[in-house]
Amino acid sequence: MPVIEYGLHTPIEYLKGVGPQKADLLKKELAIYTFGDLVHYYPFRYIDRTKYYKIKDLHPDMPSVQILGRLTAVEQIGQKRGKRLVAQFKDETGLMELVWFQSIRWLEKSLKIGSVYVIFGKPTLFNGQLSMTHPEMELYNAANKNVGNPSLQPVYRSTEKLKQSFLDTKGIQRLQEGLVAWASKKMEENLPSYLLKEQHLISKAEAITHIHFPSSVEELKAAERRLKFEELFFIQLKLLKNKLLQTHKFKGHIFDKVGSNFNAFYQEHLPFPLTNAQKRVIKEIRHDTHTGAQMNRLLQGDVGSGKTVVALMTMLLAVDNGCQACMMAPTEILAQQHFNGLISLIGDLPVSIKLLSGSTPKKERKILHENLLDGSLDILVGTHALIEDTVQFKNLGLVVIDEQHRFGVEQRAKLWRKNQTPPHMLVMTATPIPRTLAMTLYGDLDVSVIDELPAGRKPIKTLHLFESSRLRMFGFMRDEIAKGRQVYVVYPLIKESEKLDLMHLEAGIENLAREFPLPTYKISIVHGKMPAKDKDFEMQRFVKGETQIMVATTVIEVGVNVPNATVMIIENAERFGLSQLHQLRGRVGRGGEQSFCILMSSNKLSTEGKLRLSTMVKTNDGFEIAETDLKLRGPGDIAGTQQSGILDLKLADLSTDQVLLQEARNLVIHIFKQDPKLEDPKNRLLRDHLLVQSKGISWDKIS
Ligand code: ADP
Ligand code: MG
Repeated sequence: MPVIEYGLHTPIEYLKGVGPQKADLLKKELAIYTFGDLVHYYPFRYIDRTKYYKIKDLHPDMPSVQILGRLTAVEQIGQKRGKRLVAQFKDETGLMELVWFQSIRWLEKSLKIGSVYVIFGKPTLFNGQLSMTHPEMELYNAANKNVGNPSLQPVYRSTEKLKQSFLDTKGIQRLQEGLVAWASKKMEENLPSYLLKEQHLISKAEAITHIHFPSSVEELKAAERRLKFEELFFIQLKLLKNKLLQTHKFKGHIFDKVGSNFNAFYQEHLPFPLTNAQKRVIKEIRHDTHTGAQMNRLLQGDVGSGKTVVALMTMLLAVDNGCQACMMAPTEILAQQHFNGLISLIGDLPVSIKLLSGSTPKKERKILHENLLDGSLDILVGTHALIEDTVQFKNLGLVVIDEQHRFGVEQRAKLWRKNQTPPHMLVMTATPIPRTLAMTLYGDLDVSVIDELPAGRKPIKTLHLFESSRLRMFGFMRDEIAKGRQVYVVYPLIKESEKLDLMHLEAGIENLAREFPLPTYKISIVHGKMPAKDKDFEMQRFVKGETQIMVATTVIEVGVNVPNATVMIIENAERFGLSQLHQLRGRVGRGGEQSFCILMSSNKLSTEGKLRLSTMVKTNDGFEIAETDLKLRGPGDIAGTQQSGILDLKLADLSTDQVLLQEARNLVIHIFKQDPKLEDPKNRLLRDHLLVQSKGISWDKIS
């Protein structure tokens, strides 16, 4: 037991049973540096020691189970290294063998033939027979009396290296047994008592004890709920605090004129009637930019729902009110696309618009910088080159960020500082993100949703084909091209297997060139390794309809718009993530013609791969796909989460804890409404939490 002046911040090597070598491993393998870190290293599952399994129900796929039965025989067999102890173990439903390879002498002496035991271990198949190797054994009576033994036994994740140093789940459990009881006394409550009462939450100390050593399922559930709530609550507290600060601290530009550009565009240039959803969102934006506070708005909408035109109209609003606007895209191709698209939408409106990217020549760049400063340039479209400090505006009033999840919060902040009065922010997502994720990633933003596709769109038909149907697929391509349509063929290009992927890509291109020979067919090729100029040239040939087939790696994933393309073929589709697949599919179905997405895959598919492809075949709804994606991958793998702190979630799960998240968020909103500065003494703990957070000190380092 640690001496009293030890705290949760004490380095882990001082814990009894750890020492320098194990401490080193704990740091390297599990990032456990302090007592506090270990206390917060929770079990990832529990074994129910209150439940007895019957021998007839055992199966080698089962995890460790507990069985009650009688030991009927023990016998030593084999020689030398093959020597082992084999026991017969029986319950009323059957017989099984227990096998030991170590401590044979001692076990042979101590095991009591004819007695009833509680055994615990993992069923395996040995020589075609069900058996258990090195089970834990306990005489039934003793097991019954053993009150200290938790009925739900914690299981901790360990690693090979840790196991070699006796820090398997049992080893970690032993450390926790010494630590948790002591630590829970030191653990200070971090939620106000009125919240605990109202929300029926147990104390932090209790929760920590019960999360490691619950004596019942109810106790465990209560501990989980308390700790999950705390995680979600504090994220929301921080996010909504920022939001509050922004609206209080930062005056925004007031766009109160609906001027000539906006009106002329709406009345004369708009090539289609807006959908109701688009109208609603524009109304929301106009309301926001009217209040005098700075807008921070997230625009969610499925692929092809028409976010770009909303962005443009917002930019025109800015220009009409004497401000400049910029629009930032994650790739050069997309920036170029946006630029071209905006130019053609704007037509002869007296609005000047320019493109800035990494490949803009120096000379041009210089002129551009000047025009930005003297205010003669209204709208700047570009890549992250826009963020550079050399890019200064006369009066930047609006920043549109397309496909935000590729940009970090830091980058957002940099754009924000480009004007004394910070510009309004409109952030657009590439694909829908699940509600829970939006609440955690963008909880500080207001959200608008375009939940309606432009009229007349035919839903894309998606099918999944195996290699054996390749000829059929080529035939289908030929038919569509004969109708005057264009086709994308996309290959994966993933860093880890880049060489192999490039080989596949080359082989694929050769194959296509054979099937679709010149001069009847022309093929564009675009991949990330090409110089930007060549990429652009090839893209443009396809956009202009000079080529019928576009072979590409995922560089075309985001935003490319060629309405005449009706077929999207995705090679090795099983290697793409769901949201990527959905993005890619969204490149077709942009015109009035029926469009198709063909997912090509090998015959060997993992369960998850199968589920991804069948989800794609089943639905076109981006929101539904996003939910499935979150369930399959967890938030950690979803782009953008890296900078968000939601990876620190230890227990809460954004795909299953939606209700709790909503509750936590509502509570935070309520608290800030009543006590915006958290001055009420009853909220002191919350204020402290935010103070510590903003100093970058983690909670357990100061307790
Ligand atoms: P995304 O939301 O994926 O960025 P885009 O803004 O690129 O979608 O729009 C997709 C396509 O739909 C474009 O060709 C655009 O011109 C067209 N579009 C946008 N809004 C409408 C509308 N209200 N009616 C018809 N077509 C529209
Ligand atoms: Mg777009």
